[in-house]
Amino acid sequence: MSSSRLCKVGFLWNELLESFDFGRKHPIRIGRFKMLRNFIEENGFLDQSNVQVINPQPLSEELLEKTHSEDYLAKVRMISETGVGDIDIDTPGFKNIYFHSRIASGASITGIHSVMSGDVDHFISPTGGFHHATFESGGGFCIFNDVAASVITLKQCGLKRILIADFDVHHGNGTQTYFYDDPGVMQISFHEDPEWMYPHDGFIKDIGAGAGCGYNINMHFPMDSCDSVYHYAFDELVPPLIKMYKPEFIIFIPGFDAHYKDRLAHLNITTDMIRYVTKSIHEAAHTHCNGKMGVLTGGGYTNASLKWGFGTVMSVLTGHTYEPPVQEPPFDDDEETWNQVRQNVMKVKELVFPELGI
Ligand SMILES: [Zn+2]
Ligand SMILES: [Zn+2]
Repeated sequence: MSSSRLCKVGFLWNELLESFDFGRKHPIRIGRFKMLRNFIEENGFLDQSNVQVINPQPLSEELLEKTHSEDYLAKVRMISETGVGDIDIDTPGFKNIYFHSRIASGASITGIHSVMSGDVDHFISPTGGFHHATFESGGGFCIFNDVAASVITLKQCGLKRILIADFDVHHGNGTQTYFYDDPGVMQISFHEDPEWMYPHDGFIKDIGAGAGCGYNINMHFPMDSCDSVYHYAFDELVPPLIKMYKPEFIIFIPGFDAHYKDRLAHLNITTDMIRYVTKSIHEAAHTHCNGKMGVLTGGGYTNASLKWGFGTVMSVLTGHTYEPPVQEPPFDDDEETWNQVRQNVMKVKELVFPELGI
């Protein structure tokens, strides 16, 4: 349970994060991170004695070489020098993309070190969560996979059980490829049905391989799912998995792009659900990990829900009050959605729980 003292929270920020820019018409463009920083300042978070701003360092070349192939790094360097070429169809290249991506992803690693050295209990990295990048390729707005780099760093610190709790509406397909056969990493991903949603991966049957069988958990939701089915699936799956695994560190990616205002995808959760999930994961971090948790919040493409979600997560971690506006999702879960979600939850339990002895 959360201790009675206030948790120390590091907020990763410097002006360089603001320069990460895929262009004026792209969901990730100039202004996005500055807006978040200003928002939490206006809401008094930066005045709290338990909140500190931490200066992100670029991802080291050494860690980059462990996270990505030589060929892929050479490709990004080339695009970076010339400003010509794209990472993939959704992810345009730009001049100096190499350096800017090292900063945007390095922020998460700086946060990991701040938690591991005991400076803070939790960190929040507003640019982090590049979960679509694989060892050999980038894509889906992701250049360097900071989730994988964070895990590699934690393993170097000697940690044996690391939980990735990824509630971004898109499946963390890149991260999944790194640790698919590794019981030292449990990845739980809640996302929209991959049949129609990018990256078209993250099916329930994909539960890991070899020694890692059962440690990769994919739960997906039909289009238009709202809080009630999401709440149900969370309660059925997440607490028993965490209780069994007893992680030593939690990397948490909240699902701001699963919010009903975010129309890059089609789920309809509210900030009430974001608060519920964040509280539960936060409590688990105090129960099992002595508080050690990093939050990567890169996703979220509608300003209103992005700010409300960010404020909600900051509020849970810091204890500072923040209330988003009353949430008005367009409709409720219907019978068909309930049936599909019940079936999916049952399928996950049947496949995964016996592997883990739950
Ligand atoms: Zn805490
Ligand atoms: Zn996403």
